Amino acid sequence: MNGKTDIIVVGTGVSGLFYALNIPGTKNVLMLTKAAADESDSYLAQGGICVLRDADDYNSFFEDTMKAGHYENDPASVDVMIRNSPQIITDLIALGVEFETKDGELVYTREGAHSRARILYHEDLTGAEITSKLLAQVKRRPNITIVENMAMVDLICQDNQCSGVVACDRDGSIELYHSDYVVLATGGLGGLFHSSTNLAHLTGDAIAIALKRQITLENISYIQIHPTTLYSRKPGRRFLISESVRGEGAVLYNRKMQRFVDELLPRDLLTKAIHEQMKQDESDFVWLSMQDMGREVIINRFPNIFKHCLEEGYDITRECIPVTPAQHYFMGGIKVDLNSRTSMGHLYAVGEISCNRVHGANRLASNSLLESLVFAKRAARDTTANYQVASEGSHPILDLTEYKDLEQLRLAYKTIILEEIERSKVIERIDKA
Ligand SMILES: Cc1cc2nc3c(=O)[nH]c(=O)nc-3n(C[C@H](O)[C@H](O)[C@H](O)COP(=O)(O)OP(=O)(O)OC[C@H]3O[C@@H](n4cnc5c(N)ncnc54)[C@H](O)[C@@H]3O)c2cc1C
Repeated sequence: MNGKTDIIVVGTGVSGLFYALNIPGTKNVLMLTKAAADESDSYLAQGGICVLRDADDYNSFFEDTMKAGHYENDPASVDVMIRNSPQIITDLIALGVEFETKDGELVYTREGAHSRARILYHEDLTGAEITSKLLAQVKRRPNITIVENMAMVDLICQDNQCSGVVACDRDGSIELYHSDYVVLATGGLGGLFHSSTNLAHLTGDAIAIALKRQITLENISYIQIHPTTLYSRKPGRRFLISESVRGEGAVLYNRKMQRFVDELLPRDLLTKAIHEQMKQDESDFVWLSMQDMGREVIINRFPNIFKHCLEEGYDITRECIPVTPAQHYFMGGIKVDLNSRTSMGHLYAVGEISCNRVHGANRLASNSLLESLVFAKRAARDTTANYQVASEGSHPILDLTEYKDLEQLRLAYKTIILEEIERSKVIERIDKA
C-alpha cells in the first residue's frame, strides 16, 4: 500500500492539469496517468478555444451552443461556461500560453455552427500549445507529483465516499493510493471504437468503474462523430481535418466533384449529409478541397495538417483529400453538478469524462477545451472551499485478486461500457417515442 496524499487527479489532459494548478500549494496533489504525461487528447486539439469576445456576443454564443446541442443543453452550465471564458483566457495567457495575434490584438477564427468568429488558436496546434504550457507549470509546482504509466482500474470507496484509487503499472503490479479526494479527468472513450480521432488508450475506464460503483451517469449514448477525418485504409487513430479548415473556406465535393452541402452545418448534421452522399456515391469518403485558400494561407495557418497530409501522399495546396466521418467526442459521461461534484462523496469528475450537459446532444466546435478548463477550475475552488479530511478507518478491505488478470479486466470494462451505451440508446428511443 502507498501512503496517503491529499488529492489524487487521474489524467493529465487540460482538465486534470488545470484542476491541479488551481489547488493551493499547501495541498499535495498526486496525478496518475495511464500513458506518458503528454499523451492526451488535449494535445491533439487543432482548431482552437472559444471565448466570449464582448458583451454583445453573449446571446449569439449562447444560442449557437444551444442550437448545436439540439437544446438538450443545461442552460445554467452554458451560462457558466460562457461568462467564465474571458477569465480562463486571461489565466492561460498568464501561464504562458500564446494565441495568434495581429498588431498586438488577438485574432479570432470561425468554425461550423458559429455565427461569429470567436475562436482563439495557435496555428493548428492549439491543444499542444495550451497543454504543454500547463504541464510545464505543473512540473514546477513542488506540491504536485505525476506518476506516468499508472492506470486506474478501480476506486477505493465505501458507503458512497471515495477515498482513493486502485491502479496498475505496465508490469501489472497493483498499487493502492489513498487520499481525501479523487478527481476523474480521464478524457473520452474513442479507444473503444474501430474508427476514432482519439488516442487508443482512452477507453472510458472511469465509466466502467462508475457503473460498478453505482456512480450516476448521464447521456452516455451521446457520442459525437466528426465529419471530416482523413480517409485511410490503415488501422489506428484517424487524423482529424479540423473544422476551422472549413471555417476558413475549404469545400466538400462528391464523386462528380460537385458541392453537395453547407460545410458549416453543425457536426451531426454535416456527418449525416456526408454519410448520405457516401452511400449515393458508393464510396467510403467524399473529397475536401482547400486549394482556393492559397498555398501561403494553408501552410501558415494549417502547418500541421499540411505536413501530415504530405506524409500521407497528399499535397493539400494542389489537390483534394479524401475525408470520412469518425468517432470524435463524448458528450455524455459521469453526471456532475456545476462544481463538478459526482453522485459519490469526495469524488469529482472534470473534462470530457464528465457530463454537466453543457454540450447537450452535440458539441459546438471548440467548446470542449473551454468547458474542461472552466469546470476544472470550479472543481478546484469547490474542493478548496469545502475541504474535509477523509475519516480515519474509512478504507474498505479490498480483494486484489479481481485485478490479477488485467487483459480480462480491460475486456470486461469494454463490454460493460458498450452494453450500457446500447441499453441507454434503447431507453432514449423509448423516451422520445
Ligand atoms: C483530434 C482532436 C482534435 C480536437 N480539437 C479540439 C479543438 O480544436 N477544440 C476543442 O475545444 N476541443 C478539441 N478536441 C476535444 C478536446 O481536445 C478534448 O475534449 C479535451 O482535450 C479533453 O480533455 P480532458 O482533460 O478531459 O482529457 P484528455 O486530454 O483526453 O486526457 C485524458 C487523460 O486521462 C488519462 N487516462 C485515461 N484513462 C485513464 C486511466 N484508467 N488511468 C489513468 N489515467 C487515465 C490519459 O492518459 C490522459 O492523461 C479535439 C479532440 C481530438 C481527439
